[in-house]
Order: sequence, then C-alpha cells, then structure tokens
Amino acid sequence: MAHRVTLIPGDGIGPEIVEAARRVIDASGANIEWEVVEAGEKVMAEYGTPLPDYVLESIKKNKVALKGPMTTPIGTGFRSVNVALRKALDLYANVRPAKSLPGVVTRYENIDLITVRENTEDLYAGVEHMVGDDAAESIKIITRKASQRIVRFAFELARKEGRKKVTAVHKANIMKYTDGLFLAVAREVAAEYPDIEFEDMIVDAMAMKLVQTPEKFDVMVMPNLYGDILSDLCAGLVGGLGVAPGANIGDEYAVFEPVHGSAPKHAGQNRVNPLAEILSGVMMLKHLGEVDAAAKIERALTKVLPNKDMVTYDLGGTAKTSEMADYIIKHL
Ligand code: NAD
Repeated sequence: MAHRVTLIPGDGIGPEIVEAARRVIDASGANIEWEVVEAGEKVMAEYGTPLPDYVLESIKKNKVALKGPMTTPIGTGFRSVNVALRKALDLYANVRPAKSLPGVVTRYENIDLITVRENTEDLYAGVEHMVGDDAAESIKIITRKASQRIVRFAFELARKEGRKKVTAVHKANIMKYTDGLFLAVAREVAAEYPDIEFEDMIVDAMAMKLVQTPEKFDVMVMPNLYGDILSDLCAGLVGGLGVAPGANIGDEYAVFEPVHGSAPKHAGQNRVNPLAEILSGVMMLKHLGEVDAAAKIERALTKVLPNKDMVTYDLGGTAKTSEMADYIIKHL
C-alpha cells in the first residue's frame, strides 16, 4: 500500500529543492502518494496567514510530511511559521544528523553526530516584551515534562541506532534553575539507560570541543537555543547548510525538512544544493520503513558526490539543482 505523505514546497528555494527530492524519491522505488499543500509567504495574500488550517489538517491526516523551507512574512504576528508548525503538531524532537559525506571534502573526516534539539520551549516559547522604552525581557521556559521526553527520545534514538553515548548540553552553572532543571532531569533519565554512556557538557565548552575533537561525540541532547546554534556548527563540520537534513518528530506526527532556510536571494535560479532536502527525504523513508529505497539513494550519492560536474556550486561543483537530481536518479 502506498504511504500518503504531505508535501510542502515552501518559499524561496523551497519549490526547486522539494521538486528535486520528490523526483529522486519517486525514482527510488518507494511507494509514496504525495499530497501537495502550499504554505508560507506565497499563501499570505489569499488566506491571511502563512499557515492555513488545511496544512495542519493534511499533516494530521497523513501523519508524515516532507517540507521545503518557509519564509516568515514580516508583520504576520508569527515569530516564525516553522516554530508555529512545530508547536501546533507538538513536534517536540528536532533531530539533525551530521555525517561526513563521500566526496564532500571538509576539514574533518568520519564525522557522525546527531543533535537532538528540544523544539517546544526555552527562549523560543515567545514570552518576550519591552519593559518601558529602554529594556526588554525574554523568558526562558524549561519544564520537567519537556526535558524528560526529549532526553528519553535521545536515549531511545541512541539505542535504536546502536550508538554508544549521549551528551547533555547545558549552561547550568549560570542558569541554575532552568538549565539546572534540564540537567537534573537528564541525569535521572540517563540512569534508566545503563547500557548507554552519559555525560554532560557546558555549552561553551561543547562548542570548542566539537571543533577540536568532534569524533569524541555521538548523540547530543539540548534545549532549543543551544540546539539551533550547535546544529549549524555541526552542519559546518560536514559541508555546510546545503547538506544538512533534519526531522521534527512528535508522538503522533513527523515533519522532515532541511536545517537551512528559504535563501530568498538564490530563489528561482536552479542553483542551490538539493542534498539537504533529499537527505531529509531519506530520513523520512527510513521513518516509513522504506529502508531499501533509502539505501538505494544513499548508494547513488556515493557515486555522484565525488564528481564536481554532478554537484552544485557550494560543493565546488558546476551542476544545477535539477541536474544534480538527474545524476542521482541515473545512479540509483
Ligand atoms: P538560509 O538558510 O535561508 O540561507 C543562508 C545562506 O545559506 C544562503 O544565502 C546560502 O548562501 C546558504 N544556503 C542555504 N541553503 C542552501 C542550499 N540548499 N544550497 C546552497 N547554499 C545554501 O538563512 P536566512 O537567509 O537567514 O533565512 C531566510 C529565510 O528562511 C528567513 O525568512 C527565515 O525565517 C527562513 N528560515 C526557514 C527555515 C525553515 O523553513 N525551517 C529555517 C531557517 C530559516
């Protein structure tokens, strides 16, 4: 039976990279029936919101979505349309793998890290206001419930993927209540998983060590803001934003999307890298149990990525977005 999946092309470079990913996934033999729904800046004029109800209804019905990046239109009352989508579907775990890719030359080899970022609270809760004219306040919210479920998610992921260590990242030495609670909960949950090594690391030290000795880390779990920053750092270790996939996962729904945004200045030029979107699609295929199709795409990438004439500019290549997809399809 076909898997029904919501497909959101998004804004900016979104439609180009989503089309490339859809073509590669269809050619891989995966049995997917796409339900295309438009969201983001482009539907604002018609619906008065970048996130009309039909978008959430489609994802709730299909349970799984692959999306392109969306621009948050200025002056909509939305802090970010992506944050709003994650909140509305309670997609509490943001999973961002960073793995060295064959033929993609960086300063490091054999990187294989996963950032598990809490997706629903912290400074992203949006509780922010002016205090008079000359001061502003943003409230950092950390709860036991959200901390427990994200740390447990990280350990379950580590177990499922046969990984050895989970590192909890925090700044509990300074934020003794908020990050202190996150760390205390992380230690409690870690005790339930004696088969997996646990350590904690202060976020500034973590940033330094990720650059010096990234091979020492495995699965990392952290509150929202540190996850936003460190997952981009990890993307940089393996080739930049053009190659970094991601997934937003909750107990009921899963939305797969690249780490990068809609890069408006590159839109419509058929030049950006579709790989982050394609790899997000590979994560989706594994989530759906389409492991053969996922493996087929990964094998094709080992043939395509080392060839400069088959990859896009950001990887030192000359291919257009659609041509890179064509090459991957040819090597499936
Ligand atoms: P961005 O990630 O869109 O782009 C930053 C730069 O990274 C680009 O100018 C480009 O040089 C490079 N880049 C990004 N994707 C690339 C790709 N596939 N191939 C090659 N190079 C690539 O960040 P931004 O400019 O800060 O944000 C633009 C918009 O995207 C904003 O409206 C922001 O809110 C939104 N955004 C959306 C998401 C999402 O949908 N999940 C995530 C981040 C940002």
